[in-house]
Amino acid sequence: MAAPRLPPLPSVRDLLRLYRLRAVQQLSQNFLLDGGTCSRLARAAGPLRDAHVCEVGPGPGSVTRAVLAQRPASLTLVEKDTRFLPALLMLREAAAPCPVNIVAGDVLRYDMSATFPVEPTPWEQPCTSAYIIGNLPFSISTPLVVRWLRDISRREGAWRTGRVRMALTFQKEVGERMAAEAGDEQRCRLSVVAQAFCHVQYRFTIGGHVFTPRPRVDAAAVVLTPLRQPRIPLHFRTVEKVARCLFHMRQKTIVSGAGWPRCAAWQILYPEPARSQLALDTLALADLDATCRPYQ
Ligand code: SAM
Repeated sequence: MAAPRLPPLPSVRDLLRLYRLRAVQQLSQNFLLDGGTCSRLARAAGPLRDAHVCEVGPGPGSVTRAVLAQRPASLTLVEKDTRFLPALLMLREAAAPCPVNIVAGDVLRYDMSATFPVEPTPWEQPCTSAYIIGNLPFSISTPLVVRWLRDISRREGAWRTGRVRMALTFQKEVGERMAAEAGDEQRCRLSVVAQAFCHVQYRFTIGGHVFTPRPRVDAAAVVLTPLRQPRIPLHFRTVEKVARCLFHMRQKTIVSGAGWPRCAAWQILYPEPARSQLALDTLALADLDATCRPYQ
C-alpha cells in the first residue's frame, strides 16, 4: 500500500533557500534531500505505522517527512540548531493529528527516558513499538551510540520501557567497523561493545553524492536491535574497558603489541601488586593464543 501523503509543502530545497539556511560544518550538517534515501532510512528499522518515533538531528526535515509519511503515533524531534525551527514547526502543523514534540537542544544532554509514551514491555518480549531514527551528525555519532549502548546495557533512558530499535547513519567506515565480526580486520572496540548488547546490521551504503553539501566520505545506514540476552553478560564499563585495552595496539599480537608483560594497556585492567600474574592468568583462562591479534 502506498504511504499516505502529507499536505502540500514547499520542498526542503526551497525551504533552505527561503530561510537562507547554509550548512554549518561544526554541526556536521550534510542534508539528505533525496526522498528515496530518506524513505529507505525511515523504513529500515521496522514498520513505523502507529509507532512512537524519535528523530535525532532532523535539520530542515527531509527524513522527518519520510517518517511522517509512514503515519507514526507520535514523533519527537531533537535538534540543536534553532535555525530549523520554522521548517519543523511547519511540518508539525502539516502532521496533525500526529503529535510532534520539538526539543530544541543537544541530544548529548537530552534525557530520553520520557520520550516514548509506551507501556513497559518485558525485555525478553519482542521489541517495543518505539524507534530512534537519525541521519546523525558524523561528529557525535560514535560518542552518542556508545552512550546509548551503555543505556541499553542498563535498560535506562529510551530503553527503560523495553527494547527500542534504531536506524542510524554513520560514516561508512564506522558502520563497517561496528558490524565487523571476529576475524574481520575491521573489528575494533566499537564492534565488540556494539555487538555485546545489540544485533548490528549494516543495511545500505549512502553515497556521498546524495548529501548537500557533499561530505568527503560515504555514509552507512545501520540498524541496531538490542539483544534479549547480551552476548557478554558483564557490566558495560567492564566490556568497554577490556575492549579498549585489547585494541590499544590493534595491529600487534596480543603479547608483543602489549609489550608483554610491561603493557600499560593490559596491566591497567588489574591492581598492583598482582597485575602481571593476573594478566597472565587471564590469557590462560581465555585459552587465547598469545600470538593472535586483537581483531581475531
Ligand atoms: N536530518 C537532516 C537530513 O538528513 O537532511 C539533517 C542531518 S545533518 C547530518 C545532522 C543534523 O543534526 C543537523 O541538523 C544538525 O544541526 C543536528 N545536530 C548536530 N549536532 C547535534 C546535537 N548535538 N544535538 C542535536 N542535533 C544535532
